[in-house]
Amino acid sequence: MSSLLTGKTAVVTGGASGIGRGIALKLASHGADIVVADLRETPRTPETTPTLEAIEAETDSQGRFVECDVTNYEDVVDAVDAADEFGGIDVMVNNAGIVHPVEFFETDDDDFETLVNVNLKGAYFGCQAAGERMLENGGGSIINVASTAAEQGFVEPGAILYCAAKGGVKSMTFAIADLLGPEVRVNAIQPGFTDETGLAENHDEEAARARAAETSLDRLGNPDDLGNVAVFLASDLSSYVTAEGILVDGGWVNTGGP
Ligand code: NAD
Repeated sequence: MSSLLTGKTAVVTGGASGIGRGIALKLASHGADIVVADLRETPRTPETTPTLEAIEAETDSQGRFVECDVTNYEDVVDAVDAADEFGGIDVMVNNAGIVHPVEFFETDDDDFETLVNVNLKGAYFGCQAAGERMLENGGGSIINVASTAAEQGFVEPGAILYCAAKGGVKSMTFAIADLLGPEVRVNAIQPGFTDETGLAENHDEEAARARAAETSLDRLGNPDDLGNVAVFLASDLSSYVTAEGILVDGGWVNTGGP
C-alpha cells in the first residue's frame, strides 16, 4: 500500500461503477479518503463489489457515499462539502458521463439536454464547485474525464453529440487550468474503449475484440489503467503538469484509430 495520497480527500463523480469506481479504488489504495458522488450507490453490474465495500476491504482509507446528480449544481456543492468530513477536498474527479447515441440530422433539444447536461455541464459544475473550495483551501487537483472522442473526425455518426461534449470538456480543462492556477492544477484523462464499463456493455464481443486489435497494445483499457493515471494527476508526482489531456487508449488515436 502506497502513501502517495495519504491525508488527501478525493471526490469522484460517477464513482459507483466502471471507470469512476476504478479511479476511486486506486486513489484509496494510495491513501486518499474518498467521497463517491453518484446517482446510486450500487454498481451497474450486481456481481461487482460496491465501491465503498471494496475500499473498506482492500485499503486503509475511508469512504462515504453522497447521492448526487451532476446536472444539479446544489448536488455537486453538497458532494464537495461532504469531503469536509475527511478534512476538505484536495482532488476532484469529474467522471460521471453517459453514452447517448443519436444520428446527427435527428439530434434535438432533448438529446442535448440528456447528453450535454451530464457530460459537459456536470463536469463544468464540478470544476466550479471544487475550484472555488480549493482556492479557499489553498490548492488542489481537478481531473476531468474526457475521451478519445475529443480528438476524432472519424467517429460513427451517432457519436457526434458525444464528441461535441467531450471536446468541450477537454478545451474547458485548459481554460479553467489557466484561471485556477497556480493554486489548482486542472487536467483531463482521455480514455479509449474501456472494458468493465457501461460503454463496453453496449458493444458485442466481436466489436470489442476488433477495437482491441486496433490499439498498439492489443487490448482494451480497464478501469485500473485509468485509475493509475488519476493517481499520478492527483499527486505531487505531476506537480508541473496542468492544462494537459492524457490519452489512455493503448495508442489508438495517435496511431491512426480504426
Ligand atoms: P459507467 O456507465 O460504467 O459508469 C458511469 C457512472 O456514472 C455510473 O455509476 C452512473 O450511475 C454515474 N452517473 C451517470 N449519470 C450521472 C449523473 N447525472 N450524476 C451522477 N452520476 C451519474 O460509465 P464509464 O464507461 O465508466 O464512463 C465513465 C466516464 O468515462 C464517462 O465520462 C465516459 O464518457 C468516459 N469514457 C468512457 C469510455 C469507455 O470506454 N467506457 C471511453 C471514453 C470515455
